[in-house]
Amino acid sequence: MRIIRKTTEMAVWSQAERQQGQRIAFVATMGALHEGHLSLVREAKKRGNRVVVSIFVNPTQFAPAEDFAAYPRNFVRDRGLLETEGVDVLFHPAAEDIYPPGNQTHVEVKELSKILCGARRPGHFQGVATVVTKLFNVVRPDVAIFGEKDYQQLQIIRRLVRDLFLDVEIVGHPIVRESDGIAMSSRNEYLNADERKAARCLSRSLHRAECLVRRGETSAKAIAEAVVAELHNEPLAVVEYVTISDVETLEPLEQIRQSALLALSVTIGQARLIDNKVLLRSSGE
Ligand code: AMP
Repeated sequence: MRIIRKTTEMAVWSQAERQQGQRIAFVATMGALHEGHLSLVREAKKRGNRVVVSIFVNPTQFAPAEDFAAYPRNFVRDRGLLETEGVDVLFHPAAEDIYPPGNQTHVEVKELSKILCGARRPGHFQGVATVVTKLFNVVRPDVAIFGEKDYQQLQIIRRLVRDLFLDVEIVGHPIVRESDGIAMSSRNEYLNADERKAARCLSRSLHRAECLVRRGETSAKAIAEAVVAELHNEPLAVVEYVTISDVETLEPLEQIRQSALLALSVTIGQARLIDNKVLLRSSGE
């Protein structure tokens, strides 16, 4: 596995591979890798014959009061995991290379960035959209894989690719969970043993919503209330939001017709945890 730190070197490598007809698949990460990330890498291997994984803790997507400095970093372990997966290039740029002196351009996906997590994390999705655009322009992948764990991020990236005519296929990948239902996340490292147990309430509440929909409930309000009630059963959980929205525009829904995104954000101890599920009504209802 080749480790590339410079954007110029990355671009030269990609261009040479493309000229030889190779299909480049790309996974962008902030490191502290877990099985969720590795499932994206395995998907990338299926979809391209060259795989590039980036590790870059992007400063512009963290607000000043957020956890940029504390965000878990473990480059040596991550490098070993990616090597084992057979990744071709680990791209690990420095912040000064991604944001050179005098940098003053950003990418904003307006409406999609205002809601859900965007309403609580101003500037976050502008940071994400900007860094993903920069990474795409340097790596120039044919296909890029993103996790549905960050569902809003995935929709924002799909939108910016369409709006800016970027020539890259975006593939969403299902959430990978621990055996007890907790969605894997680098931020789970912030949880102590009690908090880790408490964090099960997120997936439990999603499951509760799924059961309600299966029994014929279509009112978004009723479902959201049941989810909040389930979360409130857990004393360590502080609910930030529970929303039921259109699966593409993420606009709030009152009734579930065919499908809806149930998304939630909950703080437990120091960790802000997000999870989601697409609720599907069975056909014929
Ligand atoms: P991050 O390192 O948190 O920026 O995540 C990098 C990529 O991995 C993003 O596309 C995430 O959506 C994806 N990802 C993170 N956790 C999971 C998970 N549990 N299951 C699937 N994809 C994930």
